[in-house]
Amino acid sequence: MKLPEEVNIVEIGPRDGLQNEPMFLDTDKKIRLINQLVESGFKEIEATSFVHPKWIPNLADAEKVMAGIRDLPATFFALVPNERGYERAIQSGVDGISFVLSATDSHSKKNLNTTTKESLKQLAPLVEQAKKDRLKFRASVSTVFGCPFEGNPGLEKIESLVSELYQIGFKRIVLCDTIGIANPKQVYNWMKKLINDFPNIEFELHFHDTYGRGLANVLAGIQAGVKSFDSSIGGLGGCPYAPGATGNISTEDVVSLLIEMNIKTGINMKKLLETSNLLQNFLDKELDSHIWKVSRARKRNGG
Ligand code: ZN
Repeated sequence: MKLPEEVNIVEIGPRDGLQNEPMFLDTDKKIRLINQLVESGFKEIEATSFVHPKWIPNLADAEKVMAGIRDLPATFFALVPNERGYERAIQSGVDGISFVLSATDSHSKKNLNTTTKESLKQLAPLVEQAKKDRLKFRASVSTVFGCPFEGNPGLEKIESLVSELYQIGFKRIVLCDTIGIANPKQVYNWMKKLINDFPNIEFELHFHDTYGRGLANVLAGIQAGVKSFDSSIGGLGGCPYAPGATGNISTEDVVSLLIEMNIKTGINMKKLLETSNLLQNFLDKELDSHIWKVSRARKRNGG
């Protein structure tokens, strides 16, 4: 099996995970969680979101979280949907922006109140600004592999969207399987074609584990040549438009898979699991991670 030497993991739990939790996690706990993630070895963390607090009350403390972490030695991304969000993000001292848009109009209208085309129009000047501000930036595209309202958008539509994103300046594009419906064959075939057709774009993948295909999809992505993946500690997350959808793929499980296959991630598994324990205490709920469950059962049995 041909495998890369190294794979990058972008930890998105503090943003994509916590935004979907039923409870608000106190700001100081968010800051402690992110501190421990940095100590565990994560170099890129999506720390919060500058979407209007009315839509995502769980992350209404974005400014305060950034103030508590921005001097830590990691690159902190924040999710930004529009100009207002961008201003807040830059004033808070973020290192990077994840600009968000949807591949399908119906999801886009429900989630962002715009069409995909309108999103592109709004994002173009912000990309220019991000370049001037010397920020890292990436486009985070929802519903790429399937939409809860429109089904599979098809590769052709994704190719033309990627092309438009490239034209407005994106070199880093995250393709998100928002409802966890992708399968390894689709991921492999689509990523092979996209990587071949857009050699100057760094593609990243973002999977949800709704149907239990998350890790299989990661492996398919790796086989196709993708070298960066989003994942969420404890498998936190969900999708408000896909009832029953489970969270993002769990960081613990992805890291463990990669370590077992001798792929470097820069992440210390022991410290990561300590961070998972901290998160479990904060949220007081069972985390959705195989490795974490195994490690906890071992501890209980004294082995
Ligand atoms: Zn997600």
